[in-house]
Amino acid sequence: MRTIIAISPHLDDAVLSYGGRLAQLASAGNQVIVYTVFAGTPEPPYSAAAEEFHSSWQTPDEPLRTRLKEDRAAVRRIGAMPVHGPFLDAIYRRDKQGAWLIKPGGDTDCGLFDEEPELTGQIAGAVEQLIIRHDPGLVVTCSATGAHIDHVRARDAAVLAAARAGVQLKLWEDLPYGQASPGMHPLPDGISLCPPEAEPVDALSWQKKLHAVSGYASQLDMLQCGAGHILDDLTSHAVRRGRGGSGGGNSPGYAELAWPTVFSELR
Ligand SMILES: [Zn+2]
Repeated sequence: MRTIIAISPHLDDAVLSYGGRLAQLASAGNQVIVYTVFAGTPEPPYSAAAEEFHSSWQTPDEPLRTRLKEDRAAVRRIGAMPVHGPFLDAIYRRDKQGAWLIKPGGDTDCGLFDEEPELTGQIAGAVEQLIIRHDPGLVVTCSATGAHIDHVRARDAAVLAAARAGVQLKLWEDLPYGQASPGMHPLPDGISLCPPEAEPVDALSWQKKLHAVSGYASQLDMLQCGAGHILDDLTSHAVRRGRGGSGGGNSPGYAELAWPTVFSELR
């Protein structure tokens, strides 16, 4: 038995992207912790962009309370322990001039990367504390497929913290964004990726993942990016990954994609 820490940018990413593997690791007797970085509770007033999200989530009054509650239930459905970080989601943050970082309908990608020069380091400090407390054998985080600013910050912070602590690190394919095969934002110096591995997920763990994803009720409409239902799209994608990664065969197993990493220089 070992401890595995998943560093999730937002409340839902770890379960959406790697929830099947995490469920399987937990059912094999490992302690699995899901630390969500951007789970801090904002104070009003909210930005116009945030108000738009709140109305689509149908959580106008206390948006984070609903989302934290959904996450606690969802993470437990995969047999893991939820831990919530104090950092604010990009829609609640301000740029160097004090204006809202994200404009209504605006980009959330890395055009914003020069703002908030201290933030990645602060998150890395929090992740390092978590590593010191729990002594994991493995840290897993997103690969920032799709380059959302919060995903890049969470990933880069996990890279820094895992490199300092000398802990094995893997990066998962961000879903549902990875279904459209967008590029991965460049990695920080000092880490290189091994070829991606399609990691098999057994049927029971896959069912646990789908049950967990369905628990993020406020987010499901927003996550719907394909023609089908999000749960069906995730399943088709996992079956495709299962076929691609196992060297063929006729068993259409499920799989989630992850890149093992190697640190070339410790900082
Ligand atoms: Zn996210």
